Order: sequence, then structure tokens, then C-alpha cells
Amino acid sequence: MSETRELIIIGGGPAGYTAALYAARANLAPLVIEGFNWGGQLMVTTDVENYPGYPDGIMGPEMMAEFRRQAERFGAEFITDDVARVDFSERPLRVWVENDEYSAQTVIVATGATARWLGIPREQHFQGRGVSACATCDGAFFKEKELVVVGGGDSAMEEANFLTRYATKVTVVHRRNEFRASQIMLERARANPKISFITNAVVDDILGDAKVEAVMLRDTVTDGISELKTDGVFVAIGHDPTTALFVDQLDHDAAGYLVTKPHSTETNIDGVFAAGDVQDHTYRQAVTAAGSGCMAALDAERYLAALERHPGTAVAAEV
Ligand code: NAP
Repeated sequence: MSETRELIIIGGGPAGYTAALYAARANLAPLVIEGFNWGGQLMVTTDVENYPGYPDGIMGPEMMAEFRRQAERFGAEFITDDVARVDFSERPLRVWVENDEYSAQTVIVATGATARWLGIPREQHFQGRGVSACATCDGAFFKEKELVVVGGGDSAMEEANFLTRYATKVTVVHRRNEFRASQIMLERARANPKISFITNAVVDDILGDAKVEAVMLRDTVTDGISELKTDGVFVAIGHDPTTALFVDQLDHDAAGYLVTKPHSTETNIDGVFAAGDVQDHTYRQAVTAAGSGCMAALDAERYLAALERHPGTAVAAEV
């Protein structure tokens, strides 16, 4: 086991790297265990046009590389691998990467969330070229186009409504005849003249050459197949927080999102903080994740300062 550090950050997306930047500048020498596939959801986004400071937009992967480089510049260290397990039951807090054990006084969990995908042929192939799971990120690329939104929950209704700002027509495809969406969201979508619905249908395939041209629909009652012309497909069937490693130790909600105290990034365990999409299923933007990463680093810094003043005591009240 290596010596106990002041801070370990788990996760390499906007929240983790922003926490690393702030912590490194505060001389906490953070170790960032960024994950084998570092970068998070922005690695499957093309142009990011809504992150302040990039008036001409920036590619998602390039932006993440810049975040990482900025944290590195101030001395953050990185391990490009996944965490295998954690033990937050005693001090120091412990984290394992394969069989290597790392320990720290504080840990920031910033492992993010992943959009659920349909798992159908060509879905991955067309990501960034007509298939997306984020209307706020990619909707503006579909001005005067026709779109399909898959899903029957609040996200699908919200995304469909949002997309009508750009698209001429949005078709919501839902696998059942009843909707999981709240009444108000459903009514709003139904009242939107640009939105139409196809129920009892699933998207079985995405068709096109260089870009999306149509979807193949299967009727879930009759099994009948039909083709629907479209310029893009927005998959809105929910997100899953990446919290399997933590749910037996950290408080979480029914969907698995970590619970933090109001106006703070503190979890139920002293010295463990959570930032970004792993604790936020409402906003889910790169800029909000970065903001909460900053909050987590400041919270960790204050916690460590209080620990220095009162070594060995529970210091949550002072943070
Ligand atoms: P959700 O409520 O879990 O809905 C997911 C939808 O996707 C369901 O209709 C589900 O169909 C469908 N689905 C799941 N897997 C599918 C698959 N493989 N193929 C086809 N369809 C599939 O997820 P969500 O809409 O992302 O909402 C998550 C939470 O955030 C909810 O609590 C929601 O209220 C909240 N939210 C709130 C707002 C708001 O108030 N502004 C906006 C967005 C989200 P079934 O119904 O058949 O299971």
C-alpha cells in the first residue's frame, strides 16, 4: 500500500477533472483514478456548443483532453484504469485498482452516468452522426429536419418538446400504449403540433449510409415491420449512474444516484464527496458537472483543513 494521500478522485469526466484542477492548485496533490475509458459522456459527443468560453464550439473528446491537461499542469496525477472496489468503512478511506491499494483522507466520487442505449445494430456506428442521447447537446444540429425520439418517460417528452425548436417534425416512438411520463409532460408533448406519436413500436434498426436516413420499426403487438424516414434518432430511455461500487456504502436514491447533503457535495460518510452526474439526474450538463466538481474540491479542502485543526475527530460540522 502506498502512503495515505490527502485526496483521491474517482472519475475522469468534467466533474472529476475540475475537482482535480481545484485540488491540485490547492496543493492537495490529488490522485485521479480516471477510468480506463476516461472522458465520460463527452467522448461520444461531437461538437460542444454550449460550454461557456468556446464561442466556436469544441469537440467533446478534445474538450476533455484540455480539462485533463489543465489539471495535470498543476500536478494532478492520473491512473488510467478502473477502480475495482472501495472501503469507506474506516480511516483512511481505501480504494483498489486491480490489487493495488490506495488510501486517502478524502475521496471525491465523480464516476458519472451513462445513457441507456437500445443495443440495436448501427446505433453505435451512427453516434455523433444522427444518433444521440442528449437533445440539449445535439438538437441544434437538426434545424429543419425530421427526428425520432425513442422512449415514453419524462425525458422523452422533454427531449421531444425541446427538439421542436429546431426540427420540423418529431415522432415519439414508444414500446407500449401507456406512458411512464407524468401527465403534465405528456399533455405538453401532445399539445405540440410538431410532435406525433407511434405507440406499441420499437426501433429494431437504424438505416442509412453516411448518416441516418430511416428507422426500422417493429409493432410490439403484431410484429409487423415498417420503415420511417428520419434524419436523426434521439434515444431517451433513461440514464444509469455509475454507482455499483458505492451503493452498499453510500446513501443513494431508488435509481442508484448518490445522495448529497443540500448545498454541498458531502455524502453520508465523512470525507467522501460526490460530484457531477453521479449525484445529479436533473441538470446533467458538462458545465453543471464541472461546477459541482469545483464544489467537491472546495468541500474536501475545507474538510482537510478542519481535520488538521482537530486531528482524529469527526469534523463534518465544521466543513
Ligand atoms: P424513465 O422514467 O425510466 O423512462 C424510460 C422510458 O424509456 C420508459 O417509457 C421505458 O418504457 C422506455 N424504455 C426503457 N428501456 C427501453 C428500451 N430498451 N426500448 C424502448 N424503450 C425503453 O426515464 P426518464 O424518462 O429518463 O426519467 C428518469 C427520471 O427523471 C424520472 O423520474 C423522470 O420523472 C425524471 N425526469 C423529470 C423531468 C422533468 O420533470 N422535467 C425530465 C426528465 C426526467 P416503459 O415505460 O415501457 O418501461
